Amino acid sequence: MPIDEHLKARGLAMGSICFLCIDDEESSQHIFFMCRFAKAIWRGLQAQLECNLDSSSISNLLIISDSLSPLPKEVMIACILNAISTIWFCKNQARFNDTDITHTQAMAKIRADIAFIGNFSKLYAKNSRTEFNLLRAFGIKGKYIKAPTITEVLWKTPSFGLVKVNSDGAAHGNSNGDLMGCFASYFSIQNSIYVELLAAIMVVSIAHAKGWRSIWLECDSKVVVDIFQGSKLVPWRLSNLMNKCRHLLNSMQFMVSHIFIQGNVCANKLATFGVNSKIDSWWNSMPTFLYDDFYRNRNLLPNYRFRNL
Ligand SMILES: [Zn+2]
Repeated sequence: MPIDEHLKARGLAMGSICFLCIDDEESSQHIFFMCRFAKAIWRGLQAQLECNLDSSSISNLLIISDSLSPLPKEVMIACILNAISTIWFCKNQARFNDTDITHTQAMAKIRADIAFIGNFSKLYAKNSRTEFNLLRAFGIKGKYIKAPTITEVLWKTPSFGLVKVNSDGAAHGNSNGDLMGCFASYFSIQNSIYVELLAAIMVVSIAHAKGWRSIWLECDSKVVVDIFQGSKLVPWRLSNLMNKCRHLLNSMQFMVSHIFIQGNVCANKLATFGVNSKIDSWWNSMPTFLYDDFYRNRNLLPNYRFRNL
């Protein structure tokens, strides 16, 4: 940084004075933290932000509370960086252009810059008074996190004669809610759509091999549901298997639906088992790790989906 302190450190014999206060020599510590002008800026920002700023060093200034949500946090960081840049600008104006900028004018420039940054940000703020005040102080129209919602997610038993197959790793049950079998497979490292769709295709081929001709496929991947309904394209690596699957479905009664992951817990646990064990497994009776969730579904006890908490 081209200031007197550094020029002197390189051996230049020179007199030095801070052009902002005409009180002390020009050093980075003085200009940004000790100078009357800088102190007035940090005090002004403290009043605007309604919080204490430790203006003894840049690293202390940048210690920002983790309890703030992303938008106020971004505004705080922008304030500090903008204040540093504005102090530097004012110092240069005083020294090289003989133009004095008052700290009130400097604060107005910082506020205008922060309002511009904040209003273009896509981040969100919490619905709290502190964050509302902070954003309003800089004229920022914040986007606030939506109100929390709780959705009841219920696993439904299929009607008589229909076999319901939940896929993710895949679990199978009939209209009494009995377990007819379940499997977990390991597909090596793949992307999520590939794994979800391959699991669903395997479900159909196993159901066909076992002679279940009426099946209800339920899956927590909306993309897989769309692919089976024909509204989304099949990933090319699975197009051959999907064609064979469609051929099997021609001889079956088939319906497909989406369920939130909270209603697909058994299939999800089987998928996790497949990933961890890295082997293919089939169970004719209930694996112990599914007991609680299976009977919860069978007894029609709800699960809950929380959003924006
Ligand atoms: Zn000074």
